[in-house]
Amino acid sequence: MTDVADAERLIAERMVSFGETSISLDQANGAVLRETVAAERDQPPFDRVTMDGIAIASRDWEQGTRSFHIIGTQGAGVAALTLNEPGQCVEIMTGAVLPDNADSVIPIERVTLEDGEALVEDGIDFSPAQYVHPRSSDRTSSSTLLSPGARLGPPEIAIAAGAGRASILAAALPRVAVISTGDELVGAGEPLEDYQIRSSNDHAIEAALNRHRVATVSRSRLHDDRDSMLRSVRELHDEHDVLILSGGVSMGRFDFVPSVLEELEVELVFHRVMQRPGRPLWFGMSCDTKPVFALPGNPVSTMVCLRRYVIPALQQALGMTPENEERAALGADVAFSADLTYFLPIVMNWNDAGLGIAEPRPTNTSGDFVSLAGTDGFVELPRGQDTYTTGRVARLFRW
Ligand code: AMP
Ligand code: MG
Repeated sequence: MTDVADAERLIAERMVSFGETSISLDQANGAVLRETVAAERDQPPFDRVTMDGIAIASRDWEQGTRSFHIIGTQGAGVAALTLNEPGQCVEIMTGAVLPDNADSVIPIERVTLEDGEALVEDGIDFSPAQYVHPRSSDRTSSSTLLSPGARLGPPEIAIAAGAGRASILAAALPRVAVISTGDELVGAGEPLEDYQIRSSNDHAIEAALNRHRVATVSRSRLHDDRDSMLRSVRELHDEHDVLILSGGVSMGRFDFVPSVLEELEVELVFHRVMQRPGRPLWFGMSCDTKPVFALPGNPVSTMVCLRRYVIPALQQALGMTPENEERAALGADVAFSADLTYFLPIVMNWNDAGLGIAEPRPTNTSGDFVSLAGTDGFVELPRGQDTYTTGRVARLFRW
């Protein structure tokens, strides 16, 4: 049986890129960047006024001038006016270019405007260059703003937009076939017998892949019939880049998935991992190097295996810069005597010191997915221990 860390490594060693594609910035939320985004111009591109007020030359202030002659009004988005004589000012708005020969701004709240003159209140603090965001003080033109591997969220999208980009090169998402197997499975809205169950794993897998934006997903449901499963999986394999199956990988008489995959010449990399839940996990590579993940059907196992192995593998294939590992302290003692890594569902809290506390929310077996409602994810408790005490720090995976 394979260890958790080995399983992770064996998958990582086999991941290949799914290529890249140009997408519009509107579609880029959550995408993985595959190019460098450079500054179109200096950032900010001009000396930017940061207060509504009057723009003056600090030399005038230092020589004692407190009443300035207003030569014009300048809003954002217009070319700079020029101070030509001592004692002049421009009435100025936030976002405007600093007028030529001006270097400082006095806020409008400190000024009385009357008959073309601006009279500054007595006793205010003044320092030269105040309320000006100097040209290129954040970045110079052509400097790197975003690097390949960045996951694009609101700040990165703002940066790309600020650099004048309407589209960006992003990782192409693999086409992933999510295949649930089982004669007992019935979809929502379909009539069902007492001995059947609703299929939920396919929806959970699709939701997780979409939440992490690592795939474009199609869903199918197959019966525990070897011949028809073989035909369907072959077709789905031809049409997709990655297969994720759920169910049918254990020791039961109708668990045909391993033998079907073998017949399709999917090379087995490992079957069974020293973990609970999710011990029967199966992973292989098809003859044309498409990854095939066969997850155990118990719903908690499916979700844990997907989050622990499949999502990181796809993130790696997309070229995403690895995120910092998250960790949290156990909020209660946990006893677990099997020599297996234990993936324990949790709810996150934070104590007064800001330390993340993972409150255990164990389920009644790996079939009890309804107990996962409201959980944030799970912690990984490495095998080789019987008890894990309160405060012990563990790796955290969020759904
Ligand atoms: P299996 O891995 O096929 O032995 O299935 C283990 C358990 O998971 C059985 O109780 C199945 O009914 C259940 N199961 C399998 N597939 C699904 C699914 N798509 N949705 C919900 N439960 C499932
Ligand atoms: Mg089954």
